Amino acid sequence: MNEIGPLPIVTVSSRLARWLTLQYNQRKQEQGESVWEAPSILSLNAWLKTLWEESWPEQFILSDLQSKQLWESVIKRSRYGGDISLLNLKSAANQAANAYQLIHEYELDAGNASFLDKEETKEFLEWKRAYETRLESLNALDPASLAGAVLRKMERREIPTPDHLTLAGFMETTPQHERMIRVLESNNTQVTLAPPLSGDALSSTRTTAWKDKKEEVVQCARWIRKTHRPGKTIGVVVPELESYRSLIFREFRMELSPASVLPTKDMEPPFNISLGAPLAEEPMIWTALQLICAGHSKIPLATLSILIKSPFLEMGRTHFLESIRLEKLWASKRVPFIYLEDIKESSIAPLLGEWNRFILLADTLLPSQWTSVIFDFLKQQGWPSQLESSFQSRRDFQAYEAWKECLENFSTLDDVSGSLTREQAVHLLGQLVTEKLFQIKTREQPIQIIGLLESSGMQFDHVWVMGCHADCLPSPPAPNPFLPIPIQKQKGIPHSDAGRERAYAMQSIARLASAAPDVIFSYPENDGIHECLISPLLVTIPSAGEQFSISHSSALAGKIQNTLLLDEWQEANTLPWTLKEKELYASQLFPGGTSSIKNQADCPFKAFANHRLKLYSFEILENDYENLERGNLTHKTLELFWKEVKTQQNLKRLQADNLLESAVIRNVRSAQSYYRKIFVRQSLFENIERQRLTQLMMEWMEKELLRTDDFTVLHEELSKELTLAGLQLKLKIDRVDKTVNEQIILIDYKTSKNESTSQKRWFEERLSEPQLPLYSLAMKCDAVAIGIVSKGETSWASTSSPQVFLGSKKYQQEELESWEGILSHWRNGCEQLAQELVDGLLIAQPLRKHNTCRICPHETLCRIKERSNWMSDDEDES
Ligand code: SF4
Repeated sequence: MNEIGPLPIVTVSSRLARWLTLQYNQRKQEQGESVWEAPSILSLNAWLKTLWEESWPEQFILSDLQSKQLWESVIKRSRYGGDISLLNLKSAANQAANAYQLIHEYELDAGNASFLDKEETKEFLEWKRAYETRLESLNALDPASLAGAVLRKMERREIPTPDHLTLAGFMETTPQHERMIRVLESNNTQVTLAPPLSGDALSSTRTTAWKDKKEEVVQCARWIRKTHRPGKTIGVVVPELESYRSLIFREFRMELSPASVLPTKDMEPPFNISLGAPLAEEPMIWTALQLICAGHSKIPLATLSILIKSPFLEMGRTHFLESIRLEKLWASKRVPFIYLEDIKESSIAPLLGEWNRFILLADTLLPSQWTSVIFDFLKQQGWPSQLESSFQSRRDFQAYEAWKECLENFSTLDDVSGSLTREQAVHLLGQLVTEKLFQIKTREQPIQIIGLLESSGMQFDHVWVMGCHADCLPSPPAPNPFLPIPIQKQKGIPHSDAGRERAYAMQSIARLASAAPDVIFSYPENDGIHECLISPLLVTIPSAGEQFSISHSSALAGKIQNTLLLDEWQEANTLPWTLKEKELYASQLFPGGTSSIKNQADCPFKAFANHRLKLYSFEILENDYENLERGNLTHKTLELFWKEVKTQQNLKRLQADNLLESAVIRNVRSAQSYYRKIFVRQSLFENIERQRLTQLMMEWMEKELLRTDDFTVLHEELSKELTLAGLQLKLKIDRVDKTVNEQIILIDYKTSKNESTSQKRWFEERLSEPQLPLYSLAMKCDAVAIGIVSKGETSWASTSSPQVFLGSKKYQQEELESWEGILSHWRNGCEQLAQELVDGLLIAQPLRKHNTCRICPHETLCRIKERSNWMSDDEDES
């Protein structure tokens, strides 16, 4: 054919076969041809299979799945079978299948005495014997025996051999390969091993180090964009492709095909990636698995909420609004599970009823029979849409095709697995779908992302080898436990020992260094778990230097952040009230009360979104008490407690009479009764919460007892109104105390320990903690105090005229000197914030940057992250 060799070509991997086919076709196009015969380029496995099937064989070849199932059933029936857990059984079957494969590839003698030295290898011989007996009874051929069977037929001249054959990409040859070459040559086939690649490109080989894996992948993508020219090929070789795959897929799409990340675009990425992700992770397939694999009719609320809204099911497509209604209803009841049979009054009840009937099926059927039961059930649920043409995307269509393949494979297991219960059948099918790697089929692209093994035999114009750290190149040895280790070492079986891995890594590096005129080896300095060093085999290769880094991003987010590419647009900082708003708030309270001023202090845009646009996020409630509800419960308990106890004298009496704890428990129970309608049938959560709250209250009461001035609680949850800058606000003061000296203290409870620094903010130039200052404007007082009611952190924080003392550290800003000075500072601060609201100030300016934004739901609306300096802004978390 070309530099590789004449046709037909047999390659070491199917990836190489596709790559050589692409190159062959390109060459034909360059030669001006418009029609040509498809080249005969096949992977070794595909070639052997074709030869076998064309030879009218008496045995059929087991699929990989059938072979693994057979190993599992053999191991399960062995003397150790009962002791092996499900997970270990699977792994034992995989290792046994691998050992069987190696026996054939390296022509190992299973009769060698060293097999009897260890219990594992001895046991494996038993499994092997049983396995071969089952193969014989099925009249089947294991995939590992295929090459041997074909060679035997070739020797007997029952399979014709070509005049010429090129073997491409066989960096290492096994004894079985060597035997194949001997047999072909004795049958007068001229065998050409694809020529070794030239090793003269080392001068353009460089190494680069990046902060972490993400930076490494992003820089590689930008380098591709900068380097790529029409007609040129680029290879990205990743020894640890599995751990890099999703990162590469995401970052490469963002940089190389920015528009493809938009939900409306169904675009092919401009690269091929050789490793797929488990089919079970595709949303459409995940949905089907959730339906068929449910163990019983008690479904976790989180799962059910997703399924009833799923666009892949009839329920979500046709009854979406009803599904939302149900989800809200269930969430408001805080039940962690829903029983399918309990859902009656709903338009989706018939579909859920069908689902329940499927779950309760008690039949024992063969896999082929289960296949049609499962197929029919999913169809009933509208999965996929009745019209296959209405698939949401090409990806879904291909995922569905892959699913059908899995079902077909599953249905071939009748002989191997026999009859199964529903649980066994869906478990096996689920396993199959999880093991199947899926990726969307695309045309062969000039940018290839491949593993180390697959790169064998491939040539490019540019190559980037990623993840070349010391733990990966060379990789640590991992010999097969079912083969004697001395034999593995002697035969040089992959992963058998460190020396072999080092030699293999050196050979791979030399091969990759000559796979293109321009080669880069990179590694991350941190892989997310620990620090990484460059592979010791690469230290002699020169570094590309710091200037190699490419800062220009082509991703959409990068373009938005790059202000050079944008028009200048000065956004208005204010949006004055409309006439309607003015009329409304002239006669009505402004929504939000204290929180509107607090939000304005936190971030004007947040206040605008909350109180003028009235935007609320749709929250899925937790099954347990949420922080907000815990806070409410604490407030309610304190309110009820002080309504009953009234004074510190009474509190001391309860303490002296040993009645304090019972009084606390009584009030915790009363407070919980206010929330019982929310937590239907949640007695476990209630009991835990009661214990927690009782302990917290007892801890808090110690702080109340330590106060030196006797006090009376005048008000709990006192409502007040306040007009500021023309804004009418409603306030609710948690508690008002009067001391024995007739001093009035306004108290606000905080149930989060993060509030312990709140009082410092009373004295900031721009008031950022306006709650108690607002109260002080609504009611004359001598002190304000925050009661921090948080486990292990209970304390008072206060500020006051000099004579009030709560047994806590008092904050007083020196330059404000007097209590009157403090009150005046607060009045000015609160009026300024209220005036900003009235003026319609709405700039996105979070008070404490990331900390403020972290708990704000409006990030996508204000687009703060798209600001060019957002990431580099210094944190101000004080
Ligand atoms: S996310 Fe941050 S900047 Fe945006 S509105 Fe919320 S607090 Fe303001």
